Amino acid sequence: MKNFKSIKWKLAIMFALCITAIMSVVCFLHIASMIYGEKQDFENTVNTIFTEDFIRGLSAMAEAVDYTVESADSTDMTISTVESDNTKKIYDAVWAHSGELGINSSRFMCILDASGTPIYCTSAWVLDEGVEKTAAVMAAANGNIGISTSLVQKYSDYALALNSGESIVYIKDTGDKLFNGVKDILFLYLRCLVLAVILSVVAGGYLAGSVTVPLKRMNEWAKQLADGNLSAKTDIAGSDELSELSESLMHMAHNIDATNTEVKNEKTKLETILQAMTDGLLAFNTEGRLIHCNSEAKRLLGRNYLDDIQFDSFFKEINANITIGDLLYMKPEGDIERSITIDKERSVVMNFKTFSLNNKTAGIVVVLHDITKQEKLEQSRRVFVADVSHELRTPITTIKSYAETLLDSAGASGEFMTRFLGVIAAEADRMARLISDLLTLSSLDNKQNSYKIPEEIDVRSLIEAVTERLRFSAKKKDQTLCYSPINDVPLIVGDPDALERVIINIVGNAVKYTQEGGRIDIYSSKVYNDICIKVADNGIGIPEENLPHIYDRFYRVDKARSRDTGGTGLGLAIAKQTIETAFKGKIKITSEAGKGTEVSITIPVAAS
Ligand code: ADP
Repeated sequence: MKNFKSIKWKLAIMFALCITAIMSVVCFLHIASMIYGEKQDFENTVNTIFTEDFIRGLSAMAEAVDYTVESADSTDMTISTVESDNTKKIYDAVWAHSGELGINSSRFMCILDASGTPIYCTSAWVLDEGVEKTAAVMAAANGNIGISTSLVQKYSDYALALNSGESIVYIKDTGDKLFNGVKDILFLYLRCLVLAVILSVVAGGYLAGSVTVPLKRMNEWAKQLADGNLSAKTDIAGSDELSELSESLMHMAHNIDATNTEVKNEKTKLETILQAMTDGLLAFNTEGRLIHCNSEAKRLLGRNYLDDIQFDSFFKEINANITIGDLLYMKPEGDIERSITIDKERSVVMNFKTFSLNNKTAGIVVVLHDITKQEKLEQSRRVFVADVSHELRTPITTIKSYAETLLDSAGASGEFMTRFLGVIAAEADRMARLISDLLTLSSLDNKQNSYKIPEEIDVRSLIEAVTERLRFSAKKKDQTLCYSPINDVPLIVGDPDALERVIINIVGNAVKYTQEGGRIDIYSSKVYNDICIKVADNGIGIPEENLPHIYDRFYRVDKARSRDTGGTGLGLAIAKQTIETAFKGKIKITSEAGKGTEVSITIPVAAS
């Protein structure tokens, strides 16, 4: 059934129908013209023969004095039993034109009497059966001429009244011959039609095949293209419309392929850029469904899977206080900003902006910016400023109060004044140290070269010098300060003052935070490519919980004690930054409260 719906069959059937229609029309026209011709011919013939003169002659014959004979004899004609001479004369006169009138088995000529009964006739059966009272016969019976050649009736007849209808010349074509002719033609057409239909189906099928076969191949090829195989080829050759169409399609497929590749490349490029962005990015469509997100967005939001989020519910969940309606329908100018904290540790600023495609709002882009570091920096800057203010205010308050006391104590003893002035000088020193440390830190922060001129440093001599400098302080506390170089260390290049400042601070701390009679050991050694300096004491140590903060600026385990010993709380911060930044080394402190502290510095020889 499906086959009959194919173009091939449709074309074949169409051919057959066309042939049938054409042949039917031709057949109809042929038969119609045949009938029409026959009728016309009959009419013309009788009109040509039955001229006025001829009719007048016949009328004269009919009106002449009549007499009756018993029988009549005539060649080639059947004669009635009772005839009149006049009637016979009329009959003979008309018979003389029998050839022109085309008298034959289906066309006869009779002479009828007033009642329409045939008297003489060219066909014997008419004398037996009589003639039909047709319209022409009736007209003649009324004394007129009747002729009937209607196309819708089989017969044609002509009736001429003579002697006011006493005699009627009647010529009738029964139409049998015409009918047989039409029948023959119809059969012939029918046979031809059957043959033509068979031929047209075969030829139509063959011709249609020349169109449908390439069409089928093109269809299979188009299916391959639709399945995404844009490099598929077809082999429809030739120079007809189909091959032109296949060439156009091939060209189109090639263009689509090239465009697809270009789009894919652009997409990959965009994807790579979005993934490489240091900011997070989310894109939503106007229904609030996520259409894109990059990995930074997932990291910032602390989620591995974001694909199923919905705008309103998601931003409500993370307390961003914004809905898609705010953005799409209120159309705020510029972008909207919201700050949130994720997992209590990440501060994120989100910028919401709508985007358009073809002048129509197509969705929302959210850019997430991690400001955790800035927040922390800002926080530590605030703490630092507060700490600096506090640290500076303490000595100034002391200096001020001692100076005021001195002013109020005019005439006080020299010893009193010396003691007070000593305190003022000590506080001024502390302030000077503090400011010096702050300047050092500030230059380290700004990455300025505070250890400007790189020089060769003999680490061993430097440690020996520091040990000697601090030996006095250690002696005052009855401490043993011992430097033991383990092996030879190579020269390094850098700022000797900076390294000296670090070692003074660390050994100074060991002296400061070790009780009287304690022991401080300093070691230096070369391990692989590193120079290791170790300062170990058996002092008060640092409680474990304080160790993580030991490098923080102004951090002291025991604030009062540190201040008493003249500490600024900046020494270890400076030491760490100097070793890491200037010498590309590392500093490590291990300590146990009540047992002692060990500070290790490692400086790579190559790096220095
Ligand atoms: P300070 O000027 O207060 O010594 P530092 O930055 O040098 O500042 O040291 C920070 C804190 O670390 C000190 O206040 C002290 O509490 C602790 N500390 C440093 N070195 C030692 C040590 N060898 N033994 C015990 N505590 C120490």
